Amino acid sequence: MQQLIRQLLAELGEDPGREGLLNTPKRVEKALKFLTSGYSMDVDEVLNNALFTVDYSEMVIVKDIDFYSLCEHHLLPFFGTCHVAYLPRTKVIGLSKIPRIVDAFSRRLQVQERLTNEIASTIQSAIDPLGVAVVMEGTHLCMAMRGVEKQQSSAVTSAMLGTFREDARTRTEFLTLIRQT
Ligand SMILES: [Zn+2]
Repeated sequence: MQQLIRQLLAELGEDPGREGLLNTPKRVEKALKFLTSGYSMDVDEVLNNALFTVDYSEMVIVKDIDFYSLCEHHLLPFFGTCHVAYLPRTKVIGLSKIPRIVDAFSRRLQVQERLTNEIASTIQSAIDPLGVAVVMEGTHLCMAMRGVEKQQSSAVTSAMLGTFREDARTRTEFLTLIRQT
């Protein structure tokens, strides 16, 4: 990978041999490997030993989860916050695992719509809850830096499954709760 990055620097009109850029290929490789480490994360392993049967039927919400991802069209970052909720049927997920699911899918080349759906469907298939909701608000540097859109704009995507899709009251409760600070 480092050879490719040296080549890229040259293509950009830079001198890969100048002092400031000498270690850049090594750093970029390290950064890119981390930013795409989701490919080698096994979600089943993340959830292993973290699914519990409980007698709890109220909404579980984990909100304001930071996420950082790379847009697959420009390889530029998009990042923001993610809110996740579900209504348990018989099982719950250890709360700390939800941000790890978000990381596992964020640290890949993504589009925000697919990322949102992948988080929702992973929770759906892990614990078969009555419903799952995921809302993501992201700032896309490919929009902001290139000035193609209003620079302060953010993209909001949502995935609503089960009761969150079918029942307006459940959905409204979730949307109200994530807006409270
Ligand atoms: Zn993009």
